[in-house]
Amino acid sequence: MFLDTPPPTEKRLGLTDTFNFSCHNRLSCFNSCCRNKHLPLTPYDILRIRKALSLHSDDFLERYTLYRLDPKSGFPVLSIKMGDEEGVCPFVGPDGCTVYNDRPTACRLYPLGRSSGISRGGTAREEFFYLLDTPGCEGVKEKKVQTVEVWRDDQGLVPYIEMNDKMLGLLFHPNSDGSKHLDLRQQQKVMVACYNIDLFREFVLKTGFAEQYKIGKETIKEVMENDTALLTMGFSYLDQSLFS
Ligand code: SF4
Ligand code: SF4
Repeated sequence: MFLDTPPPTEKRLGLTDTFNFSCHNRLSCFNSCCRNKHLPLTPYDILRIRKALSLHSDDFLERYTLYRLDPKSGFPVLSIKMGDEEGVCPFVGPDGCTVYNDRPTACRLYPLGRSSGISRGGTAREEFFYLLDTPGCEGVKEKKVQTVEVWRDDQGLVPYIEMNDKMLGLLFHPNSDGSKHLDLRQQQKVMVACYNIDLFREFVLKTGFAEQYKIGKETIKEVMENDTALLTMGFSYLDQSLFS
């Protein structure tokens, strides 16, 4: 997600480029890749998995996530807490991923990575994809060939990309001072609005949020029922409150 050194131009893939890949349970490597990884979780990833598991955001964050700060911006960034002893993903089962329909962006993209068209300092550039280094992955030797676009759509990546790019728009906001970290209070705002959707919903409902940000009753009703709309409101709130 955070690509400070993008791959060379010849390794970049556009939507119409093709690659070989097929993953299935007849491969000797089946399930072997869901371990010993740094697996980032975007706000939309968390929203989806937490809902699939019917957990309160507090419980999901405590049980399943690790927290660190992006060294350049001071933005909180989260990843999956892998098992202590063998580093196994908590969501892998004998038949594969137990949260498959709501698996995170990085798992959907694999064996590809993606660089959005957004970069530090707000400089626009082209979106591109690239093949990851995938040691031990038999799937990349399979005969099945597909375009990047077909892969993106088949893996249900479109809503993930849309929401993740909103987050990247904040992380690389043109008004942010690259030399200055978010302070503790700003980091807490990001944690609530981006990652703790249940707490953010309470904040919107029980404080003077609607009056302060001039949000109408219809919008409030919508975000009470729709997590994605609430997260989108959270991104707008952070845009105003951190960078105006
Ligand atoms: S979330 Fe699912 S696909 Fe991703 S590493 Fe865990 S088990 Fe594997
Ligand atoms: S290593 Fe590659 S082919 Fe094997 S299970 Fe993982 S993604 Fe599928």
